[in-house]
Amino acid sequence: MHPDLEKLIVLQRHDLEAKRLRDEIALLPKQVAALSAKLAAVEGQRAVVVDLLAKEEALRRRQESDVKDFRGKIDKTRKKIDAATTAAMVTAFEHELQFAEGEITKLEDAELESMLRTEEMEAQRKLADEAVTTAKATLSRERARAVETIDRDKLLLAEVETLRGALRPQVGEATLSNYDRIAKGKGTGLAEAMNQKCSACQMMLRPQRWNDIRDRGNSDEMMTCESCGRLLYYDPARDAPQRKTVPVESIAASIIRSL
Ligand SMILES: [Zn+2]
Repeated sequence: MHPDLEKLIVLQRHDLEAKRLRDEIALLPKQVAALSAKLAAVEGQRAVVVDLLAKEEALRRRQESDVKDFRGKIDKTRKKIDAATTAAMVTAFEHELQFAEGEITKLEDAELESMLRTEEMEAQRKLADEAVTTAKATLSRERARAVETIDRDKLLLAEVETLRGALRPQVGEATLSNYDRIAKGKGTGLAEAMNQKCSACQMMLRPQRWNDIRDRGNSDEMMTCESCGRLLYYDPARDAPQRKTVPVESIAASIIRSL
């Protein structure tokens, strides 16, 4: 295998790990922000229920006070009836009395309905309280986890960057710039040729090309995938293991071991 390819295999591993760490460092604060928004939303829902409950209680206090007023009027009207001097006056006061009694019945019915609504809303408030408690606990747990993970990721990233920085100058300039260009466009610059396919884009290699890459050995020429343009490497230890008779250490494993 071309010596640059061996280095690129390791470099790509570092590059992918660095990307994973950067992505995680960027993603975790967004996840925490989403949990924070969720907490604000359930708190908002609870505030609506609490507000409705307060309004319902205020309504009932008004109803109770109205009932009291009507009872006062009834007492006065009864006294007026006692003091009435004509039958017409008695009839008029009795009408007033009936009206007031009718209003009290309506108010008491409305009060009962209000109490049922309050009962329902109390149940909703209980659920909203539980939702807020859960959202708060989740947020605080995930926030702590994110801080911890980001701290760890930053340390790991610094280590990976150091390894990358040490490795890159060891790769041939033209190969490295080729690798960088493809990686920038496609996410990875290197792909393993396996089972006559490019393992990145899954396109079949023409038979001649497949034979070339397997027979290449220490050739200086680099091969690229005709479909996606990635630099190709071939690892006999990983290809078609069913045809293998002697166990061969995978190239990636041997490179890692020799580092
Ligand atoms: Zn390809």
